[in-house]
Amino acid sequence: MSVLFIFIDGLGLGPDDREINPLAAASTRWFRLAGSLPAPGADGRVVVATDATLGVPGLPQSATGQTALLTGKNAPFMAGRHINGYCTRRLAELLEAHSLFGRLRAAGRPAAFANAYTPRFFQDKVRLRFPSVTTVAQRKAGMALRTLEDLARGEALYQEFTNALLRARGYDVPLVSPALAGARLAALAARHDFTMFEFFQTDLCGHAQDFPRALRLLEDLDGFLTGALDGTDLARDLVVVGSDHGNLEDLSRKTHTANPVPTMVWGAAASSFANRIRTIADLAPAILDYLGVVPAGALANPPEND
Ligand SMILES: [Zn+2]
Repeated sequence: MSVLFIFIDGLGLGPDDREINPLAAASTRWFRLAGSLPAPGADGRVVVATDATLGVPGLPQSATGQTALLTGKNAPFMAGRHINGYCTRRLAELLEAHSLFGRLRAAGRPAAFANAYTPRFFQDKVRLRFPSVTTVAQRKAGMALRTLEDLARGEALYQEFTNALLRARGYDVPLVSPALAGARLAALAARHDFTMFEFFQTDLCGHAQDFPRALRLLEDLDGFLTGALDGTDLARDLVVVGSDHGNLEDLSRKTHTANPVPTMVWGAAASSFANRIRTIADLAPAILDYLGVVPAGALANPPEND
C-alpha cells in the first residue's frame, strides 16, 4: 500500500473558455478540466474541486499552499497571510513539526521526494539561503536531496521530467519521453510508502501567459501521468494529483487565481480518499490515514495562541 503524490504547481479549475484556459483547449486524456468535472469513477478517477484559499484573504501563494499540502495545517492562517516564494522561519517550524515526510520517517515508513537537484543548485548561495518549502520539508525530515547521480540510476527525475531543460542548461543527460518518466516515477513509488514529485513549469507558464507552451505542458503531463498510472498497481496503491493554487487555467492574467484546484485520485480507495478532501489542507491527513499512520495529535500541535 503506497501513495504517489504528483504535485502540479499553479493548476486551477477555471471556466470552459478556450480563449483563456488551456485546460479547456487541451486535447489530453486527463487535463481537459474546465467547466463540469468528470463524474466520480467514470474514467477511473475521482476529481474534487479543492479550495486553495483556506479562508484567508488575498490570492493563494506557493509557500503557504505547499506547507498546507505537506502538513495539513492552515499555513496561510497561521502565518497571517498567503506567502509566495521561499520558506519562511514560521513555515519551516510548521514543516518540522507536521510534515508528511517527518511523520512518515518517524513512523519508520519509507518516503521519497523524487526530484533531482542539480550541482548548480548546491553551489547557488541564494537558493541555499532561500530554499523552497519542499526542500525544507526534506531537510527537516533528515532526508538527503536527490541528485543527478540518482537521476542517472533512474532513482530520481528532474522537475521538468523530459530532461530537455537540463540538456539546454548543458547537462549531459538523455532525453526521456513523458511516459517513460512517469514509469520511472511509478517504479520509485513502488519502493516507498509515500513518494512526491513536484512539477512547477505550469506555474511559470501561467505567469508568462504562454498559451502554446501551456498546451505542450499539459500534453507532456498527460503522457507522464498515464505512464505513472500504467506502472502503478491501482488495486493496492493510490495515485493523487494536487495543486497549491490556480494560475494556468486563466492566462488572461499574470497572477495566481482564487479558483479551486483539482485533486485527482486513482486507485481502489479513491472514493473514500476523495470524500475527505475539501481544501488543500485535507490531503496530508488523508494520506497519513490511508497509510495507517496515526495522527500525532496533541503531541505535535502548536499551542492555540501560536
Ligand atoms: Zn506562482
